[in-house]
Amino acid sequence: MIRTNFSLLQYNTFGIDETAQQFFSFSSIDELVDFLTNGFQKDEPFFVLGGGSNVLLTKPFAGTIIHPENKGISIVEDADNEIFVKVAAGEIWDDFVLWAVEHNLHGVENLSFIPGCVGASPVQNIGAYGSEAKDSIYQVECMSVADANLRVFTNEECKFGYRDSVFKHEEAGKYIVINVIFKLLKQAPFNLGYGSLQGIDPTTATLQSVRDAIIEIRKSKLPDPKEIGSAGSFFKNPIVPNAQAELLKRKYPNMVTYPASEGFTKIAAGWLIDSLGLKGFSIGGAQVHPKQALVLTNKGNATSSDVVSLAQHIQQQVFNTYQIAISPEVIYL
Ligand SMILES: Cc1cc2nc3c(=O)[nH]c(=O)nc-3n(C[C@H](O)[C@H](O)[C@H](O)COP(=O)(O)OP(=O)(O)OC[C@H]3O[C@@H](n4cnc5c(N)ncnc54)[C@H](O)[C@@H]3O)c2cc1C
Repeated sequence: MIRTNFSLLQYNTFGIDETAQQFFSFSSIDELVDFLTNGFQKDEPFFVLGGGSNVLLTKPFAGTIIHPENKGISIVEDADNEIFVKVAAGEIWDDFVLWAVEHNLHGVENLSFIPGCVGASPVQNIGAYGSEAKDSIYQVECMSVADANLRVFTNEECKFGYRDSVFKHEEAGKYIVINVIFKLLKQAPFNLGYGSLQGIDPTTATLQSVRDAIIEIRKSKLPDPKEIGSAGSFFKNPIVPNAQAELLKRKYPNMVTYPASEGFTKIAAGWLIDSLGLKGFSIGGAQVHPKQALVLTNKGNATSSDVVSLAQHIQQQVFNTYQIAISPEVIYL
């Protein structure tokens, strides 16, 4: 279905009211093929928008938004302990996690309650509580925007990294994810090593009890996008050379850091922001979440420029104090 001058208010979790010049949603692959081969101006800008839970709309979008609404979860192969499940890009991510838990299949339970659609999961390589989508993704079925041809990416070809994949680099803007094939397991140990999950007894845990615990923790820490607009973690954790991290640690012993690739250290962006007393700080309708410094929220009627100004203020303050540049994880559109 094609609509023009279409409000995206219901299509972004920040709750920002911007429009798209053209909005195309598809519920079948035939519809998408027809659009790409007949109705689509390839020289005009386009953007594939799933649930809009990792984007910040900054202005009216002068091009076409392509929004997958295809549905379906089906088992394509049952091989001993491994079950291959094909999930349509337009499925809500957490509906798929619930489906897996209800079918007693292991692999995605730690990713419970992450907002967004299945189509974005390989693009973003979503992750939480010590698990990442890449651990369960077997293949990604895509449609080429240029010629509507099907291309299947193997897990390896997706070049997954931390919240990263080939779809953000050399293949950016070339493909629409239409289905994702996951490899789930009938039996597998629970992944309970991460922080607040360590209290769960692995001998009595079930997929449902792990999912319930994660949902409870997430609800206590993060704003529910249905109530308070946000895009989750707004900034990426900066990665600095070990020598710089050591100097900072000497000056700020409480600074939260994690090992990164060899020779580098990851610094918790939330700690940097919190240490500057910015929790609860607001500009216009945009606010640093009072409980979680890494999350910027729409406390009501925030405009995109409120959010951009708040983000810039934080970046400047962090740089002035620590000489570290933090950059948004959220995509500015
Ligand atoms: C409260 C909250 C908590 C969050 N917690 C987490 C968390 O714990 N872990 C985590 O990893 N993320 C988290 N996020 C971020 C977000 O949920 C994920 O990035 C999610 O995968 C985005 O899905 P989406 O469908 O909303 O994608 P969108 O925001 O619509 O798009 C994100 C990117 O994916 C691309 N894309 C989307 N669908 C397709 C497709 N079918 N084909 C090609 N490209 C596509 C878009 O073009 C864009 O580049 C959180 C967000 C919120 C609001």
